[in-house]
Amino acid sequence: MKQNTKQSYFVTGGAGFIGSHLVETLVSEGYRVTVYDNLCSGKKQNIERHIGKPNFNFVQADILNLPVLQEKMKGHDVVWHLAANTDIPTGNRVTDLDLNNCTVGTRNVLEAMRLNKISEILFASSATVYGDTPPIALSESMGPLLPISLYGAGKLACEGLISAYSHLYGIRACMFRFGNVVGGNMAHGVIFDFIHKLRKNPKELEILGDGKQEKNFFMVEDCIAGMRWAFQKSSKPYDVFNLGCESSVTVKEIGRIVAEEMGLKDVKQVFTGGARGWPGDAPYVRFDVNKMKQLGWVSSHTSPEAVRIAAQRLIKTT
Ligand code: NAD
Repeated sequence: MKQNTKQSYFVTGGAGFIGSHLVETLVSEGYRVTVYDNLCSGKKQNIERHIGKPNFNFVQADILNLPVLQEKMKGHDVVWHLAANTDIPTGNRVTDLDLNNCTVGTRNVLEAMRLNKISEILFASSATVYGDTPPIALSESMGPLLPISLYGAGKLACEGLISAYSHLYGIRACMFRFGNVVGGNMAHGVIFDFIHKLRKNPKELEILGDGKQEKNFFMVEDCIAGMRWAFQKSSKPYDVFNLGCESSVTVKEIGRIVAEEMGLKDVKQVFTGGARGWPGDAPYVRFDVNKMKQLGWVSSHTSPEAVRIAAQRLIKTT
């Protein structure tokens, strides 16, 4: 990525949790930024402070509306594609939610890029593309990829579409399989849920599953820095990276950290049982991050540290 203040970025999903952190960084560095978001899970207040700045533009619209998307994308240099359904359990029940908001939406983003001759994209994929794997560190070369949620299936379909558009139309693409991204402004996820549950009942915490689910958690600032780093350093026309940290943390431990940060003692953890939190939840996600390491990047916090920092921020602001 050229460090050029005239470069302009089109951020789909820019009013969401990760998107708004990204936008904060890019706008403050003087880049021209357009946020394109339908606010289905994002919030206007996440980006409100930028409205009126000469290098910022907000479009409230849907990526499923291709004519509007194509028109608004015109004249940008790079697309950061973050818009998607992010409610995984609902996506498993409403079976066209991920098909539309993830797969068809991504095809529209690529089509708008092709029609506007925009040739660079960064894409927010997910560890869910790996599916239900044995307890080993997952590397990008693992396969076959057999997702177990419609969200994961959607992300895998998007990776395929991006790869094909990249090959056919000369679009340079960096795809990132995120672990669990945490930080302030989060409006969903296990830390957010635990804080709200413990506010309602400070004596007892209900944990979905057996609490032994073990996953990779990393800071939103690391997520953005890692994407930018790989986009700058990677020389391939299209590539995919695990983005997260090497360590992991159990859901039971997250419950303990959140309670501790809320100043609560002797919280009884009550488990709903079973290995998964919900149908389609992969109980074990640990990353092999060597590909990012070879580019010279590692995350700045371990998973337990990231969970603690995110809990501290959320307790203050929610
Ligand atoms: P988020 O829900 O806060 O952000 C998603 C944004 O996309 C929201 O602002 C929403 O309003 C917007 N959006 C959704 N559908 C849209 C549509 N059809 N048209 C226009 N805008 C639409 O979630 P997030 O955590 O910030 O996630 C950002 C991206 O990162 C998503 O693609 C998500 O799948 C991916 N991801 C996130 C995590 C994580 O741990 N947060 C992990 C893996 C992948």
